Amino acid sequence: MNKQTILIIGGGITGLSAAYYLQKNIQENNLPYQIKLVEANNRLGGKIDTYKRDGFTIERGPDSMIARKKPGVKLVEELGLKDQMVRNATGQSYILVQGKLHMMPKGAFMGIPMEIDPFLRSELVSSSGKERALLDLEMGKGEEMVDQSLGSFMRRRFGDELVDNEIEPLLSGIYSGDIDEMSLMATFPNFYQLEQKYGSLIKGLNETMPKPAQTTGKAPGVFFSFKDGLEVLVDKLVEKLDQDSVLLNTRVDHVEKKETGYHVLLDNGEVIEASAVIATTPHQTLPKMFSEFDFLNVFTDVPSSSVANVALAFEQSAIKQDIDGTGFVVSRNSDFRITACTWTHKKWPSSTPKGKALIRCYVGRPSDQEIVDLPDEELIEIVLKDLNKTMNITSKPDFSVISRWKNVMPQYTVGHIERIQKIRKEANEQLPGVYFAGSSFEGVGIPDCIEQGEKAVHQVIEFLQVK
Ligand SMILES: Cc1cc2nc3c(=O)[nH]c(=O)nc-3n(C[C@H](O)[C@H](O)[C@H](O)COP(=O)(O)OP(=O)(O)OC[C@H]3O[C@@H](n4cnc5c(N)ncnc54)[C@H](O)[C@@H]3O)c2cc1C
Repeated sequence: MNKQTILIIGGGITGLSAAYYLQKNIQENNLPYQIKLVEANNRLGGKIDTYKRDGFTIERGPDSMIARKKPGVKLVEELGLKDQMVRNATGQSYILVQGKLHMMPKGAFMGIPMEIDPFLRSELVSSSGKERALLDLEMGKGEEMVDQSLGSFMRRRFGDELVDNEIEPLLSGIYSGDIDEMSLMATFPNFYQLEQKYGSLIKGLNETMPKPAQTTGKAPGVFFSFKDGLEVLVDKLVEKLDQDSVLLNTRVDHVEKKETGYHVLLDNGEVIEASAVIATTPHQTLPKMFSEFDFLNVFTDVPSSSVANVALAFEQSAIKQDIDGTGFVVSRNSDFRITACTWTHKKWPSSTPKGKALIRCYVGRPSDQEIVDLPDEELIEIVLKDLNKTMNITSKPDFSVISRWKNVMPQYTVGHIERIQKIRKEANEQLPGVYFAGSSFEGVGIPDCIEQGEKAVHQVIEFLQVK
């Protein structure tokens, strides 16, 4: 029987999850479809990229998934990887403000004080800054809005000082973005809903969240990876896939709409005829890929930022001033170019051989994008200089691994959700059977990408069955 082809563009976690769920669905329901997955790179996994060296497990890209979001854990369990899961070790974390390392105050959620006493005792914010922040309890809810910037929302509720010293370093890091440009509704819609319901974020969090003080201490970490690194998930997905369905080292040039479906033109000159397409590549690739359709041009103006991480391996003894904890984030008002530092050997003990230390630092804040392009030697020198301001490291690293990620972090700027809804509506009308998924759409976290991949599969199958 002639099987209809469903083409998946991109073999990152979104494309791989789509391929996995699609193959499962086809097999379970004996559907007359075949899968083709086209990946430009010579490997699958996209940003998930684990590197092994001398007994170290080093993550070039993401290092973990948040366990609270179900689609990640569901996939891991289905793949039989549960016994390989490791949780992060919990411990004190810090914020570096104006050059000084401060303990993250107890009883705070994402920098927002849920408990007043530890907040009042903390030195992260001045007395007037604390007074201003606590106005959140009295000011009532803000105007109803479709969207607003995360920064302006937080600044209105808590004042600049708490935002700059505590909230911004925690929230911006997740998106490598500028808090004052980021969309509240696309990143933390829950904060808006709590404000609207309780008239105060502090009250709203207290009503709805478990008390942070009760969840600290020896509670299990909220993130997970695998003993051999995050790429274990990719390897398992690849193992499950029918190998004939995957084309590596092949870039989709563009997609043409035809009477009966789509012609997908590859950079090697070949054409694949597909009845449906799941496109999982970053948003900046889409205007050219679907150049017959103007509605995707809006992506040309959606920014994406660059970051680099520098992993440094040491003898444990090289770190003279060890700090008890798992790492720190850096506020913008500090004279530092690193934006965050993880003491990976403490947060993920299975990543590092005994007697060694593994420190991973990020660079590339929105106002310092050019640092990502500096030569290795210069980058390492900058990172070591920053580290030595807090840690006193006496010798050179045994080795270092630098991973540069250029224009890869899609920026969910104000209006993101509406923009995406509009694109989906247009795609529905103009590109029936083409579905977009991945980190440029409904969430950058790995579980969000897995969820989008699975959702696209249901949409494709429904489309082909009613066609
Ligand atoms: C440094 C870093 C750290 C991160 N840390 C975390 C973390 O700890 N936890 C977390 O949950 N998330 C984290 N993220 C985010 C998360 O890793 C990504 O959002 C997610 O992996 C994106 O998956 P994706 O499949 O949507 O895209 P990608 O992984 O970008 O995959 C897209 C694929 O499409 C391919 N492609 C592109 N163009 C074409 C074309 N024309 N034809 C064919 N193929 C093409 C690419 O080669 C790539 O393989 C991090 C991201 C980065 C960069």
